[in-house]
Amino acid sequence: MTLHIPFDNSYARLPDGFFTRLDPTAVSTPSLVAFNQPLADSLGITGYDDNRLAELLSGNVLPEGAEPLAQIYAGHQFGGFSPQLGDGRAHLLGEVVGKDGIRRDIQLKGSGPTPYSRRGDGRAWLGPVLREYVVSEAMHALGVPTTRALAAVRTGEPILRENGPVPGAVLTRVAQSHIRVGTFELFASRGEKDALKILFKHTRDRHYPDADGPEALLQQACDRQAALVMQWMSLGFIHGVMNTDNCTLSGETIDYGPCAFMDSYHAGQVFSSIDRDGRYAFGAQADIIIWNMAQLATCLVPLMPDEDAAVERFTEIVHGMADTLRREWLKRFCAKVGIATPSPEDGALVGELLKLMQTDRADFTNTFRALLGDDARDQFTDRAAFDAWETRWRKRIESEPDPEGLMRRTNPAVIPRNHRIEQMIAAAVEGDDAPFHRLNAVLSRPFDEAPEDEDLRRPPTEAEIVPATFCG
Ligand code: AMP
Ligand code: MG
Ligand code: MG
Repeated sequence: MTLHIPFDNSYARLPDGFFTRLDPTAVSTPSLVAFNQPLADSLGITGYDDNRLAELLSGNVLPEGAEPLAQIYAGHQFGGFSPQLGDGRAHLLGEVVGKDGIRRDIQLKGSGPTPYSRRGDGRAWLGPVLREYVVSEAMHALGVPTTRALAAVRTGEPILRENGPVPGAVLTRVAQSHIRVGTFELFASRGEKDALKILFKHTRDRHYPDADGPEALLQQACDRQAALVMQWMSLGFIHGVMNTDNCTLSGETIDYGPCAFMDSYHAGQVFSSIDRDGRYAFGAQADIIIWNMAQLATCLVPLMPDEDAAVERFTEIVHGMADTLRREWLKRFCAKVGIATPSPEDGALVGELLKLMQTDRADFTNTFRALLGDDARDQFTDRAAFDAWETRWRKRIESEPDPEGLMRRTNPAVIPRNHRIEQMIAAAVEGDDAPFHRLNAVLSRPFDEAPEDEDLRRPPTEAEIVPATFCG
């Protein structure tokens, strides 16, 4: 029995200017690293045979009903506008409507060059493919809206990166869509109003069915992104490359290139090797998402009957994100210390904790989790300062209905730490996939504290610290 994917490809029915149709480039000897069976089941994908899966999910053989295409888009990268980007190494095979009624893209990434490859080789190497697999699935388990990983396949072909040849791989990515702020920017910057209208309708039907026009869509898109970014921050997650082409209309996290979860806390933390000025530092993410949504707002103005009035109204909506972000911050971070209905003073209390954590470079994940027990003070060098904070905090949560339950649900015991990801990749390059499978298994239940996972909860030793992450 062969793989059956119940395709229904709405993007492929859009006009020609939205994409280029082309097949993936075949590879020599594909072999399956991982297949996400529960995800496949939820999408109604049936019929498996490992050899056949490797052929299908490397792009060597097309599943029935696939209509491969590379999407075109534009985007602001590190603040500068690139008028034309696109899938440079990805092929959208098509879409399926899952058992939950939600339509999702099935995309191969690393599947060969396209007209949008620029200087790239159209390929991905095993490291970033496994990183995206692990981190995106961990984000899902943490309750964060995200693209997901359906499969990872080795191509059997080495590819060239900065430090020499590395094994090639293909990731099968599942997303509610790959429509980006940059997709709107492409047509808006070209003044292609008809295309912009078509994109707006497609996006509304897919992601904002109750939005009666561009204004409502903008408002809801801003709300989703504000909630998303604060969810990242409450987990110590740094996206690393918040360009507008990596900012989705679905409200899902996308592009796990140079991302990282922080170990020790610092608001100015940056990992991405290409983010030299810290534009996308941990604490900058709230400002950046407002900036990104301002770009979307600008694109939507031409769709409004009175453009001057639209500019005024859209500016209000975008500026309104600052309040939404503050509210989301208060809700998420107060929940982490057991406060369900926070007041502004509670925000100040959390702010003081974060300040102590930053000064002492306390581990973000383990400090919050340790508040459930009585050894959080071990995370600090200035223990007297922490003790004083703790006394006030314990008094505050006396009146909370279920602080412990709330904290257990909001503070993961285990996150995909950078050094564990690097160790997992190093093993996989040597042909040992056991660390990859173990990481995936443990991260599928990130709020559990099993004794045998203790090593995965430990912060890196001095020698294990990974100072930078790369796009690959
Ligand atoms: P990113 O910074 O990951 O969002 O990528 C920016 C753009 O570069 C996207 O349009 C990618 O498709 C493209 N790109 C990244 N790596 C490659 C590659 N190896 N070959 C071709 N295109 C690439
Ligand atoms: Mg990208
Ligand atoms: Mg990328």
